[in-house]
Amino acid sequence: MHTIKDKAPLRPIESIPDLCLSCGTCSAGCPLTGISGFDPRKIVRMVLEGNDRELVDSPLPWLCTMCGKCEHACPMGINIVHIMRTARGMVDRDKVPGMIHKGVELDLETGNNLGLPAEDFQFIIEDVATELAETPGFEDFAVPFDKQGANLLHTLHNKLVNTQNEDLVHWWKIFYKAGEDWTIPSVNWEGVNWGLFSGDDDAMKVFVGRIVEHMETLDIKNLMYPE
Ligand code: SF4
Ligand code: SF4
Repeated sequence: MHTIKDKAPLRPIESIPDLCLSCGTCSAGCPLTGISGFDPRKIVRMVLEGNDRELVDSPLPWLCTMCGKCEHACPMGINIVHIMRTARGMVDRDKVPGMIHKGVELDLETGNNLGLPAEDFQFIIEDVATELAETPGFEDFAVPFDKQGANLLHTLHNKLVNTQNEDLVHWWKIFYKAGEDWTIPSVNWEGVNWGLFSGDDDAMKVFVGRIVEHMETLDIKNLMYPE
Protein backbone atom coordinates (compact mmCIF):
# COMPACT_ATOMS: atom_id res chain seq x y z
CA MET A 1 0.00 0.00 0.00
CA HIS A 2 1.28 3.48 -0.87
CA THR A 3 1.93 5.91 1.94
CA ILE A 4 1.32 9.65 1.86
CA LYS A 5 5.10 10.11 1.60
CA ASP A 6 5.19 7.94 -1.57
CA LYS A 7 2.36 9.85 -3.15
CA ALA A 8 3.34 13.32 -1.99
CA PRO A 9 7.13 13.14 -1.84
CA LEU A 10 8.76 15.92 0.05
CA ARG A 11 10.48 18.69 -1.86
CA PRO A 12 13.10 19.66 -2.87
CA ILE A 13 15.16 16.56 -2.02
CA GLU A 14 12.73 13.71 -2.13
CA SER A 15 15.00 11.09 -0.58
CA ILE A 16 15.49 12.87 2.75
CA PRO A 17 12.62 11.79 4.96
CA ASP A 18 12.97 14.32 7.73
CA LEU A 19 13.32 17.55 5.83
CA CYS A 20 10.99 19.35 8.21
CA LEU A 21 12.81 21.54 10.73
CA SER A 22 9.79 21.77 13.06
CA CYS A 23 10.30 25.52 12.83
CA GLY A 24 6.55 26.20 12.90
CA THR A 25 6.62 28.83 10.14
CA CYS A 26 3.85 26.96 8.35
CA SER A 27 1.69 26.99 11.48
CA ALA A 28 2.34 30.68 12.08
CA GLY A 29 1.05 31.54 8.61
CA CYS A 30 -1.89 29.15 8.51
CA PRO A 31 -5.29 30.77 9.07
CA LEU A 32 -6.56 27.56 10.68
CA THR A 33 -3.85 26.90 13.24
CA GLY A 34 -5.41 26.22 16.61
CA ILE A 35 -8.88 25.57 15.25
CA SER A 36 -10.17 22.10 16.12
CA GLY A 37 -6.60 20.93 16.78
CA PHE A 38 -5.38 21.89 13.31
CA ASP A 39 -1.64 22.59 12.97
CA PRO A 40 0.23 22.01 9.69
CA ARG A 41 3.54 21.41 11.46
CA LYS A 42 1.98 18.57 13.43
CA ILE A 43 0.43 17.17 10.25
CA VAL A 44 3.80 17.12 8.50
CA ARG A 45 5.26 15.33 11.55
CA MET A 46 2.48 12.75 11.39
CA VAL A 47 3.41 12.02 7.77
CA LEU A 48 7.13 11.90 8.48
CA GLU A 49 6.54 9.46 11.31
CA GLY A 50 4.35 7.27 9.10
CA ASN A 51 1.12 7.95 11.00
CA ASP A 52 -0.85 8.03 7.76
CA ARG A 53 -3.87 6.16 9.05
CA GLU A 54 -4.29 8.50 11.97
CA LEU A 55 -4.22 11.50 9.63
CA VAL A 56 -6.44 9.97 6.96
CA ASP A 57 -9.03 8.90 9.54
CA SER A 58 -9.08 12.35 11.14
CA PRO A 59 -11.04 15.40 9.98
CA LEU A 60 -7.79 17.41 9.68
CA PRO A 61 -7.17 17.11 5.90
CA TRP A 62 -10.69 18.40 5.25
CA LEU A 63 -10.23 21.48 7.42
CA CYS A 64 -7.39 22.75 5.22
CA THR A 65 -8.48 25.36 2.69
CA MET A 66 -5.54 24.47 0.39
CA CYS A 67 -4.67 28.16 0.29
CA GLY A 68 -0.94 27.34 0.20
CA LYS A 69 0.25 29.98 2.67
CA CYS A 70 2.08 27.34 4.70
CA GLU A 71 3.88 25.97 1.67
CA HIS A 72 4.85 29.42 0.50
CA ALA A 73 6.37 30.19 3.90
CA CYS A 74 8.11 26.85 4.51
CA PRO A 75 11.92 27.31 4.34
CA MET A 76 12.32 23.69 3.25
CA GLY A 77 9.77 23.89 0.44
CA ILE A 78 7.68 21.05 1.86
CA ASN A 79 4.62 20.41 -0.27
CA ILE A 80 2.04 20.68 2.47
CA VAL A 81 -0.94 21.23 0.15
CA HIS A 82 -0.07 18.10 -1.78
CA ILE A 83 0.16 16.20 1.51
CA MET A 84 -3.33 17.39 2.51
CA ARG A 85 -4.82 16.51 -0.86
CA THR A 86 -3.10 13.10 -0.92
CA ALA A 87 -4.51 12.33 2.53
CA ARG A 88 -8.00 13.26 1.25
CA GLY A 89 -7.55 10.92 -1.68
CA MET A 90 -6.80 8.05 0.72
CA VAL A 91 -10.15 8.44 2.50
CA ASP A 92 -12.82 5.89 1.52
CA ARG A 93 -15.14 7.68 -0.84
CA ASP A 94 -18.20 7.01 1.30
CA LYS A 95 -16.46 8.86 4.13
CA VAL A 96 -15.73 12.04 2.13
CA PRO A 97 -17.56 14.77 4.05
CA GLY A 98 -20.46 16.81 2.76
CA MET A 99 -21.54 17.05 -0.86
CA ILE A 100 -18.10 16.86 -2.47
CA HIS A 101 -18.02 13.22 -3.51
CA LYS A 102 -21.70 13.27 -4.46
CA GLY A 103 -20.90 16.21 -6.72
CA VAL A 104 -18.02 14.27 -8.28
CA GLU A 105 -20.34 11.34 -9.01
CA LEU A 106 -22.99 13.61 -10.50
CA ASP A 107 -20.42 15.41 -12.63
CA LEU A 108 -19.07 12.12 -13.96
CA GLU A 109 -22.61 11.04 -14.80
CA THR A 110 -24.12 14.26 -16.13
CA GLY A 111 -21.36 16.80 -16.84
CA ASN A 112 -22.10 19.04 -13.87
CA ASN A 113 -22.03 18.93 -10.07
CA LEU A 114 -25.77 19.59 -9.85
CA GLY A 115 -26.79 16.62 -11.97
CA LEU A 116 -28.77 19.03 -14.17
CA PRO A 117 -29.98 17.50 -17.46
CA ALA A 118 -28.74 19.31 -20.60
CA GLU A 119 -32.22 20.54 -21.56
CA ASP A 120 -32.79 22.07 -18.10
CA PHE A 121 -29.41 23.79 -18.28
CA GLN A 122 -30.18 25.29 -21.67
CA PHE A 123 -33.64 26.34 -20.49
CA ILE A 124 -32.18 28.21 -17.49
CA ILE A 125 -29.46 29.87 -19.56
CA GLU A 126 -31.89 30.95 -22.27
CA ASP A 127 -34.38 32.20 -19.69
CA VAL A 128 -31.75 34.40 -18.03
CA ALA A 129 -30.55 35.56 -21.46
CA THR A 130 -34.09 36.51 -22.49
CA GLU A 131 -34.42 38.66 -19.38
CA LEU A 132 -31.16 40.42 -20.21
CA ALA A 133 -32.32 41.02 -23.78
CA GLU A 134 -35.30 42.92 -22.32
CA THR A 135 -32.88 45.40 -20.73
CA PRO A 136 -32.27 48.64 -22.68
CA GLY A 137 -28.92 48.49 -24.42
CA PHE A 138 -28.84 44.67 -24.61
CA GLU A 139 -31.77 44.11 -27.00
CA ASP A 140 -30.08 41.63 -29.32
CA PHE A 141 -28.26 39.69 -26.60
CA ALA A 142 -28.16 35.90 -27.03
CA VAL A 143 -25.99 33.21 -25.49
CA PRO A 144 -23.69 31.55 -28.02
CA PHE A 145 -23.59 27.82 -27.20
CA ASP A 146 -20.74 25.74 -28.67
CA LYS A 147 -19.52 28.45 -31.01
CA GLN A 148 -16.77 27.20 -33.28
CA GLY A 149 -13.61 29.34 -33.30
CA ALA A 150 -14.70 31.71 -30.49
CA ASN A 151 -12.01 33.66 -28.69
CA LEU A 152 -13.14 32.70 -25.16
CA LEU A 153 -14.64 29.57 -23.64
CA HIS A 154 -16.64 30.36 -20.50
CA THR A 155 -16.97 27.33 -18.23
CA LEU A 156 -19.42 27.87 -15.39
CA HIS A 157 -19.43 27.60 -11.65
CA ASN A 158 -22.55 25.56 -10.89
CA LYS A 159 -23.81 28.12 -8.39
CA LEU A 160 -24.19 30.63 -11.25
CA VAL A 161 -26.65 28.25 -12.85
CA ASN A 162 -28.31 27.14 -9.65
CA THR A 163 -28.82 30.09 -7.32
CA GLN A 164 -26.77 33.05 -8.51
CA ASN A 165 -28.04 33.74 -12.02
CA GLU A 166 -27.43 37.46 -11.52
CA ASP A 167 -23.67 36.80 -11.58
CA LEU A 168 -24.03 35.25 -15.01
CA VAL A 169 -25.64 38.47 -16.17
CA HIS A 170 -22.71 40.54 -14.89
CA TRP A 171 -20.33 38.52 -17.05
CA TRP A 172 -22.61 38.63 -20.07
CA LYS A 173 -22.99 42.40 -19.87
CA ILE A 174 -19.22 42.78 -19.86
CA PHE A 175 -18.82 40.39 -22.83
CA TYR A 176 -21.57 42.20 -24.73
CA LYS A 177 -20.24 45.71 -24.18
CA ALA A 178 -16.65 44.63 -24.81
CA GLY A 179 -17.65 42.94 -28.06
CA GLU A 180 -16.11 39.68 -26.81
CA ASP A 181 -16.33 36.64 -29.05
CA TRP A 182 -17.27 34.04 -26.42
CA THR A 183 -19.12 30.78 -26.01
CA ILE A 184 -20.30 28.29 -23.37
CA PRO A 185 -20.52 24.51 -23.74
CA SER A 186 -24.04 23.08 -23.99
CA VAL A 187 -22.88 19.89 -22.22
CA ASN A 188 -20.07 19.17 -19.74
CA TRP A 189 -20.13 22.84 -18.79
CA GLU A 190 -19.07 22.46 -15.15
CA GLY A 191 -16.00 24.53 -14.34
CA VAL A 192 -15.68 23.52 -10.68
CA ASN A 193 -13.47 20.48 -10.28
CA TRP A 194 -14.48 18.74 -7.07
CA GLY A 195 -12.10 15.90 -7.96
CA LEU A 196 -9.37 18.45 -7.14
CA PHE A 197 -10.85 19.14 -3.71
CA SER A 198 -11.63 15.53 -2.83
CA GLY A 199 -8.22 14.16 -3.84
CA ASP A 200 -9.78 12.05 -6.61
CA ASP A 201 -7.13 12.13 -9.35
CA ASP A 202 -9.06 9.99 -11.82
CA ALA A 203 -12.17 12.17 -11.66
CA MET A 204 -10.09 15.34 -11.75
CA LYS A 205 -8.48 14.18 -15.00
CA VAL A 206 -11.86 13.44 -16.56
CA PHE A 207 -13.12 16.94 -15.74
CA VAL A 208 -9.97 18.65 -17.01
CA GLY A 209 -10.08 16.45 -20.11
CA ARG A 210 -13.60 17.63 -20.94
CA ILE A 211 -12.48 21.24 -20.97
CA VAL A 212 -9.46 20.41 -23.09
CA GLU A 213 -11.79 18.59 -25.49
CA HIS A 214 -14.05 21.65 -25.77
CA MET A 215 -11.06 23.86 -26.45
CA GLU A 216 -9.77 21.53 -29.13
CA THR A 217 -12.99 20.56 -30.90
CA LEU A 218 -14.33 24.12 -30.94
CA ASP A 219 -10.88 25.56 -31.68
CA ILE A 220 -11.07 28.11 -28.83
CA LYS A 221 -8.13 30.36 -28.04
CA ASN A 222 -8.72 31.32 -24.38
CA LEU A 223 -10.33 29.76 -21.33
CA MET A 224 -12.24 31.48 -18.57
CA TYR A 225 -12.20 29.16 -15.59
CA PRO A 226 -14.22 29.96 -12.47
CA GLU A 227 -11.79 28.40 -9.97
S1 SF4 B 1 -2.94 25.25 2.79
FE1 SF4 B 1 -4.02 24.42 4.59
S2 SF4 B 1 -2.41 24.06 6.08
FE2 SF4 B 1 -1.58 25.46 4.55
S3 SF4 B 1 -1.92 27.52 5.31
FE3 SF4 B 1 -3.67 27.02 4.00
S4 SF4 B 1 -5.20 26.13 5.39
FE4 SF4 B 1 -3.23 26.11 6.47
S1 SF4 C 1 7.52 25.50 7.81
FE1 SF4 C 1 8.26 23.66 6.78
S2 SF4 C 1 10.09 23.10 7.91
FE2 SF4 C 1 8.96 24.53 9.22
S3 SF4 C 1 7.61 23.21 10.49
FE3 SF4 C 1 6.44 23.74 8.68
S4 SF4 C 1 6.78 22.04 7.24
FE4 SF4 C 1 8.40 21.95 8.81
